[in-house]
Amino acid sequence: MHYFLRALREAVRSWPLLAAAMLCSAGVAALWGANIAALFPIIEVTLKGESLQSWNAARLDDAESRIEAAEAERQTLEAEVAAGTRTGEDLVWARHRIDTLRINLAVDRGVVASASRLGPWLDRLLPVDPFQTVLVVVGFVVASTFIKHGLLLVSTMLVSWVAMNISRNIRIKVFEKALSLDRAQFMRHGSAGFMAQVTATAEMLANGIMAVYGGLVTEPLKILACLGCALLVSWRLTLACLVLAPVVGFLMVWLNRRMRNISTGILSQSKGYHHVLLEALNNVLTVQAYTMEPFERQRFRDCTGDMLKLGMHYSFYRALANPITEVLGIGMVATSIAVGAWLVINQETRIFGITMTDQPMTVPGIMIFFGFLIGASDPVRKLSGVITGLNMGMVGAQGLYPLLDTESKLVEAAEPKRLPSPHREIRLENVSFSYDGIDTVLDGVNLTIAFGERVAIVGPNGGGKSTLINVICRFYDPTAGRILMDGVPLTDLALGDLRRRIAMVTQQTELFNESILYNIRYGRWDATDEEIEAAARKAHAHEFISEFPEGYRTMVGPNGFRLSGGQRQRIALARAFLRDAEILVLDEATSQIDVESERLIHEALAQYVQNRTVLMITHRASTLALADAIVEVEHGKVVKRPARQPQAA
Ligand code: ADP
Repeated sequence: MHYFLRALREAVRSWPLLAAAMLCSAGVAALWGANIAALFPIIEVTLKGESLQSWNAARLDDAESRIEAAEAERQTLEAEVAAGTRTGEDLVWARHRIDTLRINLAVDRGVVASASRLGPWLDRLLPVDPFQTVLVVVGFVVASTFIKHGLLLVSTMLVSWVAMNISRNIRIKVFEKALSLDRAQFMRHGSAGFMAQVTATAEMLANGIMAVYGGLVTEPLKILACLGCALLVSWRLTLACLVLAPVVGFLMVWLNRRMRNISTGILSQSKGYHHVLLEALNNVLTVQAYTMEPFERQRFRDCTGDMLKLGMHYSFYRALANPITEVLGIGMVATSIAVGAWLVINQETRIFGITMTDQPMTVPGIMIFFGFLIGASDPVRKLSGVITGLNMGMVGAQGLYPLLDTESKLVEAAEPKRLPSPHREIRLENVSFSYDGIDTVLDGVNLTIAFGERVAIVGPNGGGKSTLINVICRFYDPTAGRILMDGVPLTDLALGDLRRRIAMVTQQTELFNESILYNIRYGRWDATDEEIEAAARKAHAHEFISEFPEGYRTMVGPNGFRLSGGQRQRIALARAFLRDAEILVLDEATSQIDVESERLIHEALAQYVQNRTVLMITHRASTLALADAIVEVEHGKVVKRPARQPQAA
């Protein structure tokens, strides 16, 4: 609930819209009650052939004469009690009667006041002819129904806007969080986790907010409007009709708890389902090559089957909410019919010794009372849908906010230091790193890389080469020790400033499902088409790009699947060349390029790597030839040596 309240508080920021929506809701509720109340004059007065004006005048006269009689009786009784002529049970009865008379007097004085105020209005607004009055009332009901639906539409649109805007903001925040977390934190949720959060969970939250501001105010207001009118007719009878309310309330609480548990289950299932889906689709080639389709199909069937089971559970409880709330609605109406009918038929004011009304009820009076209770039972029924939405919102908020509260381990410096470009050196001092806190991947590394140095990083698989690059580029912070650029710890530099100095090409090239032009320009958004072509020429990509009918405008497909591995790497290289950064990181960047092209690229690289620091993870002798120094990484230990050993004398 705590998290959901946070979402609701965020919604309150759009308070002018919500206030307008609430006003509309209040208008809807008032018109809802007024429409039912408007039937009163038809049933009570006009169908008897009377005019409302004469009915009001008669009501005034009746109330005044009742006041006169009650006042006289009260005074007599009070005098008798004061004189002590009444004793024992008689005295008790007299006191009770005096109390009743006082209440009746108050009620009748209210009637006199309202009838006197109503009189001039009735004279001014309504015709004297009963049938014409019916037409006016019917006209009012039709017009107010139009207005009510207009207000409902405005209120729904306003609340939807607020809810959708919040869910959009949350989606944006989840996306930003995914981009800002360090890689280990990101992998804990995975693409599938973030996908589920951005789609299903944010949707659930929006539904919850919509339910609260859209229905949790309107429906209870409607109930209050109707019950308020019913209370005016007979408050005791109204309370008697609500005997079932505590039972229904208890059942609803139980139901809510069940639905919340199931919603939580659905949410975690949805993450699993996204996970299976994305994994199979992203690795579809492996799935097909190893004929694992039946396995993946079964896996998908299993997880969607689990979702189906939970979904059915949810539907069952959701469907159960309807009869439960309907029991309350119909219970109210049934009790009022049974009790009211008994009172009217027997012209009684008491049932089982309990006083229900001060005066025996008339048929039209009880009909209007039924009308109010029926009017209250409809919003009671709708309230079940609102409560369902509320539960969803709570579960959604519980899933989203803890993720949004996760602090990125890559803390940005409060007051980042600035460094001149280019830097002079990068120094690692006693740097250790572990992904899981158990296995040490880098162990007390001391290393200095001067600006302009070309360093080849070599060593066995799993030795820690990529990890070394990752900590230098600050995708992770070291577990111990520090990394300095010109004597300033990387943690004191703005992350953006550091990353702008780096261009990176990895073994797994990542391309966007856009044109080749877009993909190369991704490294530098302001680059001209000529600069892009020059970068492509350096990476020996221009030749194959020109052979495509659409040249640089060729779409590469998801992750560049329309291109060969070597072509993809060349585009990634062109992107890095275009960036013109002072540090170039190549992680097996030419591993898929044919020998001849690689030789040509190396020639270009030999030109390009002048005047910048280059870190190259490689096994290839040809790449090694470009290096000034070699860093050997094995079991987390690092040794640096010059690339060309001095000739022995
Ligand atoms: P290299 O690049 O030399 O092949 P890596 O730096 O990629 O080696 O990996 C070094 C060690 O760290 C390996 O044992 C690998 O299993 C482990 N490792 C790499 N990435 C992660 C990760 N994200 N989480 C946990 N362990 C990892």
